[in-house]
Amino acid sequence: MTTLDGKALAAKIKARVREEAVKLPRRPGLAVVLVGNDPASRVYVTSKRKDCEECGFYSEEYALLESATQEELLELVETLNGREDIDGILVQLPLPAQLDEETVIQAIDPEKDVDGFHPMNAGALLIGRPGFLPCTPAGVMDLLDEYGVDPAGKRAVVVGRSNIVGKPMALLLLRRNATVTVCHSRTPDLAEHCRQADILVAAVGRQGLITGDMVKQGAVVVDVAMNRDDNGKLCGDVDFAAAAERAAYLTPVPGGVGPMTRAALMENTLLAAKRRQNLA
Ligand code: NAP
Repeated sequence: MTTLDGKALAAKIKARVREEAVKLPRRPGLAVVLVGNDPASRVYVTSKRKDCEECGFYSEEYALLESATQEELLELVETLNGREDIDGILVQLPLPAQLDEETVIQAIDPEKDVDGFHPMNAGALLIGRPGFLPCTPAGVMDLLDEYGVDPAGKRAVVVGRSNIVGKPMALLLLRRNATVTVCHSRTPDLAEHCRQADILVAAVGRQGLITGDMVKQGAVVVDVAMNRDDNGKLCGDVDFAAAAERAAYLTPVPGGVGPMTRAALMENTLLAAKRRQNLA
């Protein structure tokens, strides 16, 4: 079994991004907006700042109060949309309950939507036009490419159908000519579907959902999930030890998809900066 080392590849990608970024007439700029006090979100925002430093980007952070209003947030997004030096805008999700995520996402200039969540970018992915790809599935594809896993002609099963992971993941695999099945909470006989998969992507958020017997011999298994076990340790959906007995390739958690998501955000921000400087 080969471990798909996302940490190592992410470091390589970020070094490549930096090389390009420092050559641009104006360095890429990313604005990250955090609303409220979610501790996990706080950690993600801090790591994005570190990534920006590593890549030679300019970055700004905005911390709005938990009680922030929709108007306040939309006003900030509008200001950032108009800023020449900001190429990417990322509003950290989830938002507090009084704020409407969809409205906020739609307010971001699609040219600066480095998360790839705006309907313009989601639509572009659906019909195969250039846009920004959501970072997690884009990072998974980078990882598969690095290890020479070609989805063409393979059976791919994606477990989970969220707008930010499952659906775009399925579309990217389809684009690369896999035959794709998408499973979700209403799928009867999940195990049977999984056992057919040459490429199995788990994106649910439930520890232990994918057991060893659900993994086909020689499969490529990608575990997107980030759960906490009883000891507070980060873990995925896949029973790693049992899956390792059967899989040919397997991502660890942590050190698999997580770092790749972060690297993909840096790639998107570089791309946004190049496009906005008419260099891509
Ligand atoms: P989500 O919006 O909660 O979606 C979860 C999906 O799993 C839903 O489509 C749901 O089906 C499906 N599901 C729930 N229970 C199931 C079951 N028993 N069998 C089959 N499918 C089931 O979550 P998400 O935002 O996509 O994130 C998924 C996981 O990835 C989470 O652990 C999250 O923390 C992690 N994540 C990791 C990264 C990273 O960088 N590594 C990035 C984003 C997310 P229904 O649609 O029917 O409800």
